[in-house]
Amino acid sequence: MHQSAPSERDGNESGPGLAGVLDRYPGKLSAYAASLIQRRDDPIGRQFLPTLEELDDSSGWVDPLAEEALSPVRSLVHRYPNRALWLVSHECAAHCRFCTRKRRWKDARPLSEGDFEAGLAYLARSPGIRDVLLSGGDPLLLPLDRLERIISSLRAIPHLEVIRIGSRAPGVLPGAVTPELASMLKKYHPIFMNLHFNHPREITTASRQACALLADAGIPLGSQTVLLRGVNDDAAILGALFHGLLTMRVRPYYLMQMDLTAGTAHFRTPISAGLRILQSLRNHISGIAMPQFVIDLPGGHGKVPLVPNSIRAIHEDRAEIVSYTGVQCDYPLLEGEHEELRRLHFG
Ligand SMILES: *Cc1c(COP(=O)(O)O)cnc(C)c1O
Ligand code: SF4
Repeated sequence: MHQSAPSERDGNESGPGLAGVLDRYPGKLSAYAASLIQRRDDPIGRQFLPTLEELDDSSGWVDPLAEEALSPVRSLVHRYPNRALWLVSHECAAHCRFCTRKRRWKDARPLSEGDFEAGLAYLARSPGIRDVLLSGGDPLLLPLDRLERIISSLRAIPHLEVIRIGSRAPGVLPGAVTPELASMLKKYHPIFMNLHFNHPREITTASRQACALLADAGIPLGSQTVLLRGVNDDAAILGALFHGLLTMRVRPYYLMQMDLTAGTAHFRTPISAGLRILQSLRNHISGIAMPQFVIDLPGGHGKVPLVPNSIRAIHEDRAEIVSYTGVQCDYPLLEGEHEELRRLHFG
């Protein structure tokens, strides 16, 4: 399913330029995701249709999170003490043009039997790891028996207490979520899933059904949303998305600042945009609909949450804290607390 119907239809960006883009960053789009696109520059089209801007970007990093350097064995990223990220799938249903791992599209190699054994052996001999995230690519694009073999092998390692799966399939290929998949996953609890939704238009009858199957299998569902210029960098759009996700039993988990990936600069928003949007949503939508806004620091230094600042001043006996409506309130401090509070607050 290379190159989409909509980009052929409007044809204003075709020819050798776009072929160059696709040569570096191949296109892929499920028929379902294509059906959500009405215009090439609408919020779905912008996510999936290639543009010449991808070749313009000279500032980005091929691997901004240093995932390759942090992989003790191929495709297994070990960045934090207690958890590991295992890129078990090389395929996605659609290529998000802002993807942090677009470096992997062109020479996509499935996890070989050797890679699989090496990853499993690394996890088995690393008792500090208690939480494994399966990602890719999209693990739900693996054949069911292959995915089950991976998960059951992880379950056989006692210190791997939590298994997480990251997937965009419910939003771009909802048919990949079948009753068979749900009942397979259910055997291996605790399993958590983080889904990927970026715009309220991705919430459809089909994606709702896919999430219901997973939630009914007892899988806590979260969502990671990427903050994207011209797609969802707007409080009303994100408020509708986050609330809509709750109605599918999906809890917004992270709102992610764009990584500094080469070929994606046109999607990047200022850091202030994320802070401003979360500040304006606070208390206007449910607290359980509020994700954390995070930056994944370049160079592989990890995720850091950013929070709009509500503390205006710290005195010896009280802090001045501003409410979501802008009212300044005093909150009394315990004796001797102010110094540590200042240190924690101002760094
Ligand atoms: C994001 C990420 C994780 C998971 O982080 P959480 O904050 O626990 O969701 C783990 N490993 C790597 C390499 C990651 O990028
Ligand atoms: S689904 Fe995730 S891994 Fe796949 S292309 Fe989109 S952002 Fe990248």
